[in-house]
Amino acid sequence: MAVPLLDLKRQYAPIRAEIDRAVKQVFDHCGFIMGPEVKAFEAAAAEFCRTRHAVGVASGSDALLLALRACGVGPGDEVITSAFSFFASAGVIDHLGAVPVFVDIEPDTYNIDPAQIEKAVTAKTKVIMPIHLFGQCANMDPILNIAATHGLKVVEDAAQAIGSQYKGRSAGSIGDMGCFSFFPTKNLGCAGDGGMITTNDDALADMVRLLRQHGGRTEYVHEVIGYNSRLDTLQAAILLVKLPHLRGWTDSRRHNAARYNAAFAGLPLKTPAVRDWAYHIYNQYTVACDNRDKLLAWLKDRQIGHKIYYPVPFHFQHCFAGLGYKAGDFPQAEKAGKTVVSLPIFGEMTATEQDEVIDAVVRFFA
Ligand SMILES: *Cc1c(COP(=O)(O)O)cnc(C)c1O
Repeated sequence: MAVPLLDLKRQYAPIRAEIDRAVKQVFDHCGFIMGPEVKAFEAAAAEFCRTRHAVGVASGSDALLLALRACGVGPGDEVITSAFSFFASAGVIDHLGAVPVFVDIEPDTYNIDPAQIEKAVTAKTKVIMPIHLFGQCANMDPILNIAATHGLKVVEDAAQAIGSQYKGRSAGSIGDMGCFSFFPTKNLGCAGDGGMITTNDDALADMVRLLRQHGGRTEYVHEVIGYNSRLDTLQAAILLVKLPHLRGWTDSRRHNAARYNAAFAGLPLKTPAVRDWAYHIYNQYTVACDNRDKLLAWLKDRQIGHKIYYPVPFHFQHCFAGLGYKAGDFPQAEKAGKTVVSLPIFGEMTATEQDEVIDAVVRFFA
């Protein structure tokens, strides 16, 4: 039996009537840009993330871009981030004329290693941007301490982590700003591109609200040079329907993760390491093994959905060759790129399907 990595149709089916009604309502008022659903979703999302503000933007990438801009990042500045993430985390830094400074990851959580951040700080550093990869928060306390010592801002890339917690604090509420993506394959996805910035800081919230609408509060009066980066009303309407389901979907993911963990115990396969302070939401269930590429072929033959997040660390990307990094600079990120693979974990996966995945993995190692 083929098992997909993700099946969005199954998530849509039980909420179809609600979504269709919400979409119809938007067409009834035709306020496609900054319509009432945007404000309503921002209020609901701020409550969910336990922040004073949530600001809808056009994508997760734009959330990072606008948040860094609001923190004052510009040409010549440096932003410290992980060497191992989705491309946007590093790309946006360059878009602002700033320089991404990479730091290696912890070998078991794949999150930025706080012990290696301090030595990356220079007089040009403006922001530390940890990424809560796969749905588990980075170890934030040491990061916040380093930031406080050096007068830096902390922007959380929480694109894979809505609902995740660090010592009881919600992802996106821990640093100065949190950035989220509603790309359809994320644990909370819309029907296209969408994103959001959270913050408890009124001035930063005000600045990203300015930046998303060409830098103007009133039409044709521009305080700063901004962007066109709004969350569409239609996407906000869909997200308003989906947000109340998120906790249940997360429970299903966590349940599936626990079943995998039990089934894979004892195999020469690294299952996700979860810190005791973490509430992991399993945007991905990522395992690792030395003979990963053989496992990939095995899964492919059996039509078991899987994907490598991420095969190439940032310092090996052609576009960052000019930064002067070389092989061996970030050994853990390099190793992760060669050993990780993510397995189906979506909430609507049936037990039979999960057993199929488990059976395939167990037989591979037999
Ligand atoms: C998805 C993702 C982004 C970018 O989000 P988009 O909405 O696709 O622009 C940024 N960072 C991480 C870690 C992501 O997973």
